[in-house]
Amino acid sequence: MTAKIIDGKLISSQIKEELKEEISELKEKGITPGIAVVIVGEDPASKVYVGQKEKSCVALGIYSEKHALPESISQEELLKLVRELSANPKINGILVQLPLPKHLDEGEVLLEIPPEKDVDGFHPVNVGKLVIGEPGYLPCTPHGIQELLIRSGVEVAGKDAVIVGRSNIVGKPVAMILLQKQKGANATVTVCHTGTKDMAAHTRRADILIVAAGRPKTITADMVKEGVVVIDVGVNRTENGLVGDVDFEGVKEKASAITPVPGGVGPMTIAMLMKNTVEAAKKQASGK
Ligand code: NAP
Repeated sequence: MTAKIIDGKLISSQIKEELKEEISELKEKGITPGIAVVIVGEDPASKVYVGQKEKSCVALGIYSEKHALPESISQEELLKLVRELSANPKINGILVQLPLPKHLDEGEVLLEIPPEKDVDGFHPVNVGKLVIGEPGYLPCTPHGIQELLIRSGVEVAGKDAVIVGRSNIVGKPVAMILLQKQKGANATVTVCHTGTKDMAAHTRRADILIVAAGRPKTITADMVKEGVVVIDVGVNRTENGLVGDVDFEGVKEKASAITPVPGGVGPMTIAMLMKNTVEAAKKQASGK
C-alpha cells in the first residue's frame, strides 16, 4: 500500500478561504478581527513563525500588530504590554510567541492574557475547558491535527489513536481533543513518552499515529501496522533540509494516509490561529 498524502497546504488554504468570507461578512457589520503578536528576542525560528502569521493576517484582512521586544525586556515591562493589549478593543487575540528567553516567566505571562483573548489556547482556563469538554479556544497545532483528520475523511471515533510526545503544546492537548466524546474525536487514546517501556508495541496497534517527539526517524516502518493514518508533527532542521519525526519514505509504503513535512501540520497551525482570532472577534462583538 502506498499512502495517500494528507495535503496540509491545500486543506489550510480551504480553511482560509472560508475565513475570508466570514471576515468580509464581519467587516460589513463594522467588525475587523484583530490580533497582537508579541515576540521577544532574536530566535530565528520564532521570527519565521511570526512572519508567517503576519502574512496570513494581511492575506485574510485581519488587523495585526507586531510587538518585537528586545531580549533584555523585564518581566514587568512585558506584563505591562500584555495588559495594554488586553484593554485594547481593536485587539481580539493576543499571542505571545514561545519560548520566551529564560529570565522571563512564561506561566505568569500566559496568565495575564484574558482567556477570551487567548487565541493560542494556552491559558490554564482554556486548557481546563478542553479537559472537561467545554467550548474554549483550542491550541492551534492540536486543533489543526484534528481538522486534518476530519477534512481528510478519517473516522476518528472508536479508533486506537497513539500519540508520541506529551508536551503541553502538542502531545497532551491533542490527546485531550481526540479523547472527548464529540464529533471528530471519541478515540481510544494512548500517549507515549521517554518513560514508555516498549513504544513499538503501542505504535503497532495504532489506527491513527500522531508523532510529536522532535527527533527524526522516531517512527520507522517496522513500528507501524498496514493501513495506519500517520500525522507527523515534527519539524527538524537537518543537513538534508526540513524533516519530520517519521521515516516518511519507509512508513508511506505501509500507511493508508500520511502528512508530509513540510506541508502537513505546519500550515494548519496558522490557519487555526486565524480561525481562533475570527471566533474571538465574533464573541467579543456579541458580548459573550
Ligand atoms: P517537546 O516539548 O520537546 O516534547 C517532545 C515529547 O516527545 C516529550 O514528551 C518527549 O518525552 C517525547 N519524546 C522525545 N523523544 C522520544 C522518544 N524517542 N520516544 C518517546 N517519546 C519521545 O516537543 P514539542 O514542542 O511537543 O514538539 C514536538 C515536535 O513538533 C518538534 O519537532 C516541534 O518542532 C514540532 N512542532 C511543530 C509544530 C507545527 O506547527 N508543525 C508545532 C509545534 C511543535 P518526555 O516528556 O518523556 O521528555
